[in-house]
Amino acid sequence: MWRVAVVRALRGGGAGAPRAASGAAAAQLRRRLESELEDIRGAGTWKSERVIASRQGPHLLLAGGGAGIINFCANNYLGLSSHPEVIRAAVEALEKFGAGLSSVRFICGTQSIHKDLEEKIARFHQREDAILYASCFDANAGIFEALLTPEDAVLSDELNHASIIDGIRLCKANKYRYKHMDMQDLEAKLKEAQKYRLRLVATDGAFSMDGDIAPLREICQLAQKYDALVFIDECHATGFLGPSGRGTDELLGVMDKVTIINSTLGKALGGAAGGYTTGPKPLIDLLRQRSRPYLFSNSLPPAVVGCASKALDLLMESNAIAQSMAAKTQRFRSKMAAAGFTISGKDHPICPVMLGDARLASVMAEDMLNRGIYVIGFSYPVVPKGKARIRVQISAVHSDEDIDRCVEAFTEVGRKHGALS
Ligand code: PLP
Repeated sequence: MWRVAVVRALRGGGAGAPRAASGAAAAQLRRRLESELEDIRGAGTWKSERVIASRQGPHLLLAGGGAGIINFCANNYLGLSSHPEVIRAAVEALEKFGAGLSSVRFICGTQSIHKDLEEKIARFHQREDAILYASCFDANAGIFEALLTPEDAVLSDELNHASIIDGIRLCKANKYRYKHMDMQDLEAKLKEAQKYRLRLVATDGAFSMDGDIAPLREICQLAQKYDALVFIDECHATGFLGPSGRGTDELLGVMDKVTIINSTLGKALGGAAGGYTTGPKPLIDLLRQRSRPYLFSNSLPPAVVGCASKALDLLMESNAIAQSMAAKTQRFRSKMAAAGFTISGKDHPICPVMLGDARLASVMAEDMLNRGIYVIGFSYPVVPKGKARIRVQISAVHSDEDIDRCVEAFTEVGRKHGALS
């Protein structure tokens, strides 16, 4: 027996070593996958993952060294991902309600904390009811198919998030894609869609690549004129846009005109995971009966529910955190503009530093990391050709000094690489 073990160890085939599947089909698959991976590398669109050895926060420790890195690329807008009260709430929920439910909601996966969180989400958004999902990706995947039939139409902004696009693909409604935030085009498509029973306009509230905000007032006016419903994805708005952080609908004064909101618990609201739909009660009731990612996937783990629930409590107590983030966003945007950079969007903590050239975005991001600033470059196909950028995301837990160090590093690196004169 020991001989076999020694031979395996020498060949690198010990008990825990991965086994390659044998057979011609497996070999063919491996060749095809390797060639596809090579194509991705060749196209320069390979996404590598940096490994973090500390909690999520404004200052990170990277695995293999790299201490004190200032982090400007998380969706941790309010800094709640490592907030002590959020962590404590997660630990308490874990101890009281266990690690998980080992069940979907409708079999034996609903605990009092799930019902409490749904009630809290509905109250936060001033809607009738809410339903939890494992992610907002699931909420978007599960809503259109449950709600729309071939008798209906859905009109979607061309730059909507991938999960909205996938969710719409799954439904049988008639599909229209209008040009990004183009109200003339939306109106033309709404006219065409008059022949259908129901029209649903679907848009991100805030767009994650450009930091721009959907013209919801105009969208709601058109929806009223053409008898349509409005759906918004508030992943980059919930918790911080609007006077009390309710989101884009509050910011633009149309809370009573937007029918359906999908959002995430995985960004500003504690950053753990989870998503939800909130809106009219019969819609939420229908989703519980028909929405496939809800019906056929495990309940949210108690610790995750605990985080989100505490994050909402903190936001409903005070909007001081959201205000502090807004002030820091303003500081970054104005200092970068004064340094000569073009920042896309307006007043949003997503601050895309527009550079145009893909290589420039990539080498500048690398050089920023050498100066202790963690930012990410985006280029085609994630953003249109010629619109490469470095996306900076501001958080309430950045200090003014963090922001100023980031601007200084951008200025140095921009001069070095010819992005600034
Ligand atoms: N919608 C938008 C606009 C997003 O940016 C994201 C996340 O990147 C999602 C949906 C998916 O959210 P989640 O991470 O909860 O699945």
